[in-house]
Parts: sequence; C-alpha cells; structure tokens
Amino acid sequence: MKVFKSSVSLRKYLDNLQTGDQRLTVGFVPTMGALHQGHLSLIDASRSENDITVCSIFVNPTQFGDVKDLETYPKPIERDLDLLIEHECDILFLPEAEDIYPIGHHHKTYDLNGLDKIIEGEQRPGHFQGVCNVLDRFFSIVKPQRAYFGQKDFQQTVVVRKLVSLLGLNIELRIMPISREPHGLAMSSRNSRLDPEAFQKARFIHDTLADIDRNKDSIGLEHALDNAAKMLSTQDGATLEYLTVVNANTLEPEFTNTDPKVVLVVVNYRGVRLLDNLLIQ
Ligand code: AMP
Repeated sequence: MKVFKSSVSLRKYLDNLQTGDQRLTVGFVPTMGALHQGHLSLIDASRSENDITVCSIFVNPTQFGDVKDLETYPKPIERDLDLLIEHECDILFLPEAEDIYPIGHHHKTYDLNGLDKIIEGEQRPGHFQGVCNVLDRFFSIVKPQRAYFGQKDFQQTVVVRKLVSLLGLNIELRIMPISREPHGLAMSSRNSRLDPEAFQKARFIHDTLADIDRNKDSIGLEHALDNAAKMLSTQDGATLEYLTVVNANTLEPEFTNTDPKVVLVVVNYRGVRLLDNLLIQ
C-alpha cells in the first residue's frame, strides 16, 4: 500500500497511473480512522468494484462542534495501517490539516436546501457544512469514479448526494449496510469510549429498533415509535437525543405510503453519542 501525506503527490501519482491507462477506475473511501469492520466493508466493496482504492484518514476539524470530542478522537494509526494492508487497500491518503485547508483557504457555505439544519444538523450546527467542505476538497484531489459511505451515518449520505449534485460531479455514490457487533450495536470508532459493561448493555438501541420493525405492522408505526421512545429514555445512563421517522430520500417528515422511510435515532449513553437507524421500505 502506498501512503501519501501530500495532496499534490497523491494527485501526481494518480495522474501518472491514469495517463498509462485511462480506463482505470478509482474508488474512494473517506474516513476519520480508528478503523473497524464498518470501514473495512467499504474498502472491500471499493476493491471489488474499482481498479484502485484510495482510503483517506483525516480527523476533519471543521465538522466537530465540540473541541473535546475532536481532541479525544481515537487515532490508532499503526493498527489502521495494518488493517488497510490486510484488506489490500492500494492507497492511503493521510494529510495534515494545513494541506486540506491551506492558509487563505476559503470555507464555503453550500446551499443544501436545509438538509444540514435538521435532525443531526440541529444537534450539531455546522457539522454537515464541515463534512461538505472536506469532501469537496477530497473529491477534487482524488477525482474518484465511485465513493463509498456507510448507511450508519444516514443523513450524511443524503447530504453527500446533494453535494455531488450541487458540484455537478460525476461520482457514483455507493452506500453500504451498517456493520454491527455480534450483539447488534452499530460499529463506531466512538464505541471504544464505552467501558466493557456499557458496551454490552448498549445493545438496547438496536434491540429497540428491531422491536419497531417487528411491531410496526401490528400496532402501527406511530405507536411502535412511542413505545421505543419510552424504552430508550428510561434506560439507566441514557438520554434520548432524537428518535424520528422521515422520508428516506428527502429527510422530510412527509411521505406517501410507498416512500421509503427511515427511523433515525441518537442516544447519549454514558457520555457517548450513539447513532443508529432502520430503513423501512
Ligand atoms: P467515520 O470514520 O466515522 O467518518 O466513517 C467513515 C465512513 O465509514 C462513513 O461513510 C461511515 O458512514 C462509515 N461507517 C462508519 N461506521 C460504519 C458501520 N458500522 N457500518 C458501515 N459503515 C460505517
């Protein structure tokens, strides 16, 4: 695996490869590191669908509202390198913040039609604008044919779709299913902040989503959501930030019977923000 810290060197290397063979396709997997099976499933998918797979590891300061969250974000880079080599990733892009946001860099504000202000965006003002700024830079450096994202961050996938269309980019977005721990908890780099007991108990989030899925037809979705909200907010050590069902394409609360829906949930459990979701076709 080749590792590039400089965007200019990475672009030069990719240009050389693609001059040799213009049909070479590039798959891109942006991450913030502390890799787990969820990230690796994106790498595997990219490997199977492209000639070259580029993974980036960059803890993007502009998408963190909370400085403590940014400062304490796990950075096990040696382990990440081993995992990427094991999964035969071709290129790791590991830039410094100064390369992505050089002095004089102008942060953009994207017109996301309000997608960045609702649900997760309401809890984390500026977060999705930060995500769009870093992806705009990355897409212009890597110029991928395909980019891989996890369904785990559902709202992010809708925002990125909007960004790609706003920028007029010809990038195919590939959304991969949520990788879960054996007991059901959605994998996340932040799970390492849970102590072993909390990690085991955190399965209640996925169990509750599974209850909604099981009961929605017999008691109705609204009633199933009410029950779930009660269940999530009465767990010891848990604060329910939101539990909502929205149109999976637009994230709006309106839908017809045939629109796909998604239940989005965030629970703060013992100081760790845990996201999960359930698609309802
Ligand atoms: P992050 O490093 O948290 O920015 O995540 C990088 C990418 O991996 C994003 O597209 C995430 O949605 C995706 N991802 C994170 N956790 C999971 C998971 N449990 N299953 C599938 N994809 C995931």
